[in-house]
Amino acid sequence: MAPIVVLGSLNVDFVARVPVLPGPGETVLGGDLGTFAGGKGANQAVAAARLGGRVAMVGCVGADAHGDLLVRRLELDGVDAGGVRRDPDAPTGAALIMVAAGGENVIAVTPGANARVGARDVRRAVAALDAGGLLLLQLEVPLAAVEQAIREARAAGGRVLLNTAPAARLDLDRLAGLEAVVANESEAAALLGRPVASAAEALEAAAAIAAAGARLAVVTLGAAGAAVHAAGRSWLAEPFPVTALDSTAAGDAFVGALAAGLAGGAQDAAAVRLASAAGAAAATRAGAQESLPRAADLRRLFDVEWPAAAV
Ligand code: ADP
Repeated sequence: MAPIVVLGSLNVDFVARVPVLPGPGETVLGGDLGTFAGGKGANQAVAAARLGGRVAMVGCVGADAHGDLLVRRLELDGVDAGGVRRDPDAPTGAALIMVAAGGENVIAVTPGANARVGARDVRRAVAALDAGGLLLLQLEVPLAAVEQAIREARAAGGRVLLNTAPAARLDLDRLAGLEAVVANESEAAALLGRPVASAAEALEAAAAIAAAGARLAVVTLGAAGAAVHAAGRSWLAEPFPVTALDSTAAGDAFVGALAAGLAGGAQDAAAVRLASAAGAAAATRAGAQESLPRAADLRRLFDVEWPAAAV
């Protein structure tokens, strides 16, 4: 049992740095292959755990060496990985990433075992949730499982934080009764079926997501901060100023930290501030899971105390 349960994806990320991205039919020589733990579910589990959240991960990897690596990485950060199932019939999910010298990238994701997440995994996730605990979901596993998890967690008295990433056109009815919804601009645009390209539009989008039934709605704006709507009030959460090096996993840092804050009893504004600090900190470092901050990083970079003396 845990106060935060993540039901979501685990991927191994293969990264090749190349001078230029190859076109169709072309071959380029790259640098050494980098192999990293990733997947939005696993990243967010690690992000929450590094900020003191007690986290259990439920998901699916293959019965292969990459699956071993991903489970080991979670355990190194204190995430309970007992709910990560080994599927004998599918390989571990993978992302094939090429990054050009100028920073441009191309990515192919092969979901592998993540596509096998289903009803029994949902049942394990809901059973692992403490009474009143927080179930953290993204959209990198089948939508049917996400929808079932929302229904069952709510029926069991759990709270649900949904990060609508990657972008998908969800039925807005699905947001009714959620504790929190987090989307970036393009995910909010996909969700609402209209452009979200400015702070004003992001504030409107957050209000629309709250009107669909989310208690706390957040639309993240990268270096411009985040638009928030809760309890009839909208505000722009100011970004923490940083020199950004690589914004990979800034969104995952934000969502995981928001979960740690809410599960830790922080008020909405304090939890969003913690999340903004975590997102900004992640943008200052290269990589995905390796860039996710700990409480000491937030104290050093921004003087943000977590857990706060009084929440
Ligand atoms: P995603 O990676 O999902 O697109 P964003 O890029 O919107 O997510 O980043 C999530 C959050 O992280 C932002 O709302 C912001 O609080 C923080 N963040 C991201 N990039 C920066 C940056 N360059 N400077 C300051 N904060 C940032």
